[in-house]
Amino acid sequence: MPDQMIQTSDSAPVATSPAEAPMRSLKVLLAGPRGFCAGVDRAIRVVEEAIRRYGAPVYVRHEIVHNRTVVEELEAQGAIFVEELDEVPADAHVVFSAHGVPKTVPAEAERRNLLYLDATCPLVSKVHREAERHFADGGPESRHILMIGHAGHPEVVGTMGQLPAGAVTLINDAEEARTVQPADPARLAFITQTTLSVDDTAEIVEILRRRFPLIEGPKREDICYATTNRQEAVKAIAPGCDLVIVIGSPNSSNSQRLREVAERSGAPRALLVPRLSNLDWSVLEGVNTLGITAGASAPEALVQEMVTALAKHFSLEIEERTVKEENVTFRLPAPLG
Ligand code: SF4
Repeated sequence: MPDQMIQTSDSAPVATSPAEAPMRSLKVLLAGPRGFCAGVDRAIRVVEEAIRRYGAPVYVRHEIVHNRTVVEELEAQGAIFVEELDEVPADAHVVFSAHGVPKTVPAEAERRNLLYLDATCPLVSKVHREAERHFADGGPESRHILMIGHAGHPEVVGTMGQLPAGAVTLINDAEEARTVQPADPARLAFITQTTLSVDDTAEIVEILRRRFPLIEGPKREDICYATTNRQEAVKAIAPGCDLVIVIGSPNSSNSQRLREVAERSGAPRALLVPRLSNLDWSVLEGVNTLGITAGASAPEALVQEMVTALAKHFSLEIEERTVKEENVTFRLPAPLG
């Protein structure tokens, strides 16, 4: 698709008096797609709809998505965020986050008669079902599972928690793929976290397939469409940029990966910036072309906030580069759907 030129009213050079020096020019390349994915959009709608139907407060176990701005906006509507269910009072409504939860969490909610709504992204739930299929109830068809992902990330905790302890071994990186020693190399399967680096994961999968030719797994990996598209989009802009800013939270896995992918794809520097108020303006010194993208949990309003502020300091030329159109939406879970 040809590049689309956008010159917003915000980006128009601000008039200066004859005495003032003209503003320095700055080209901004906006990566597309960027920002909210269908799973994040659905998780936020689950909380909003729960508050609308049942009234505030509605409890949310863990940050619904990894973005402080989203969390604060939902808090203002009546959501209360907790880390564990024992912080939720009896008879309250509680929502589980988009990252998914171990099976012990809904079991505990049922034991305590809590009214729970599961906002787990359907693409994460799909990986849960894959894991269960490979485990096959621990029977004669059961395969030991290697999960490619990052230790401690809630999605990894949730996916490993679909099966009994010991059924899944976590593979954090290529080195662990090279050295893992499964008990039965002929009965293995792999699954992956949905928000990994596409390139790193392809390398790890290749190592596993080479070492264990009988390993079963998805055709490529479980990385979701949104993670893949956002990495492709940042790869498309990075080589032409002096700096890439990824708008996203430090605990957002897909935002962190976007920053890494930008640097590996040719940007001399890439920074993760939660929002405009966290921007150190000195990083823009000497920057002529700035790339901007946003992680899957970062609202587009934060991108626009950044662009609007830039337009007050620079004469902007804004170019949007979209590598793929997205039209994925997910229905709300029962009983909200
Ligand atoms: S990043 Fe992917 S897996 Fe995660 S919530 Fe978004 S669509 Fe779902």
